Amino acid sequence: SREEVAYFGAGPAPLPTPVLEEGARAFVNFEDSGLSLAEISHRSPTANKILANTKTALVSLLDIPDNYEILFMHGGGSGEFSAVVYNMVAVWVEKRRRLAENELGSDEEKILERVRSDIRESLRLDYIVTGSWSLKASQEAATLLEPLKNGGKAKNFVNIVTDAREWNEGKFGKIPHEDMWKMTSPEGSAFAYYCDNETVDGVEFPSFPKCLVSKDDEDDRLVVADMSSNFLSRRVDVSKYAVIYGGAQKNIGITDVTLVIVRKDILATIPSPSFLHAVGVWSPPAILNWSVIAKNNSLYNTMPIFSIWIAGQVMRSLLSTHGDAKVSGQEAVANAKAKIIYRILDENPSVYQIVPHKDVRSRMNICFRAGDAATEKGFLEGAESRMLQGLKGHRSVGGIRISNYNAVSMANLQKLAEYLKDFAQRKR
Ligand code: PMP
Repeated sequence: SREEVAYFGAGPAPLPTPVLEEGARAFVNFEDSGLSLAEISHRSPTANKILANTKTALVSLLDIPDNYEILFMHGGGSGEFSAVVYNMVAVWVEKRRRLAENELGSDEEKILERVRSDIRESLRLDYIVTGSWSLKASQEAATLLEPLKNGGKAKNFVNIVTDAREWNEGKFGKIPHEDMWKMTSPEGSAFAYYCDNETVDGVEFPSFPKCLVSKDDEDDRLVVADMSSNFLSRRVDVSKYAVIYGGAQKNIGITDVTLVIVRKDILATIPSPSFLHAVGVWSPPAILNWSVIAKNNSLYNTMPIFSIWIAGQVMRSLLSTHGDAKVSGQEAVANAKAKIIYRILDENPSVYQIVPHKDVRSRMNICFRAGDAATEKGFLEGAESRMLQGLKGHRSVGGIRISNYNAVSMANLQKLAEYLKDFAQRKR
């Protein structure tokens, strides 16, 4: 039964049982309407209310300022790898057009020529690579931008600010000191990108990177963060970001919906396709175009209203559990749960080897090795026999991964803690 299983999967991930039970009812007969939430029109008043309520809950949980828009999108975290590039490059190009216009007046041809040359000479996208997901995002950027190189005349557009593997024997597990980062100047950089929590490698930024803080109004470095796997697990100063995004299927709800929090001035700067085409840049595909999605209140096309409703229920349950503490309340719980596990691992270094360095250990995805392959297999089998599931590390890195998302209860975590202690005792 559900009560017997303790699940620690990395995503899809556990959800609060009351939300699922309520969801089961809503899936058949939503609020006694006689219809399933999966059947109603995404343009119905009910769907609109669900969208609005979910936004309100998110604004409240994260104290999102008025100058930000919340979008519900398709395509998951991976879809946003592409969306970030399409939209942010378009924004950078539009800013260059405005600068050229100020300088050159109304001569269209000269302006176009200047922007084309700016793209060739100075467009840069800064990626801070600290794990598999930021690496993938940077690779997607390089692929999308390749045609803009115009037959190799331009340099690489993607600037790898740092590749953490270079500082950690070829493996992820560390965030290199910021003094070693090679940032592009804010004017050249279309954005600086990082992944707040690397799900595969168990690396989490302890705080907002210092060198991404804008020094003054002139220096508006646009920061984009992937928070797919630590969304709603700690306080975030949204005002520091141009864009925050995350797929829902870990801390927010079920898969199918991606949340994007984007500054409104970014939306207003995404230019028309005709200008972008004139300078040889693609226009963002409508389905990934943040401005199109915002103008249509996230209903440009058919959205999974059931998934958005689930996300809203999860948010409302966080609000009712933590009251005024909001997401800080959840942060305290997440930290306490992670501490219990790391303490046991630290106490048994001959049995458990934690993958990331101590100062960047993820609270959400606790990655460690438990000896050789046979011992790890034994660990996983032993866990299964106690109904502790979803502990196998990502196929690309192996090892063990405990995902400690918001809906993992303290009771289930304690069961796992007991198993970790028992296993260590047997192996010591
Ligand atoms: N970013 C992070 C941090 C992730 O953990 C994942 C998926 N596990 C992704 C992006 C990709 O998300 P999706 O599967 O929704 O495309």
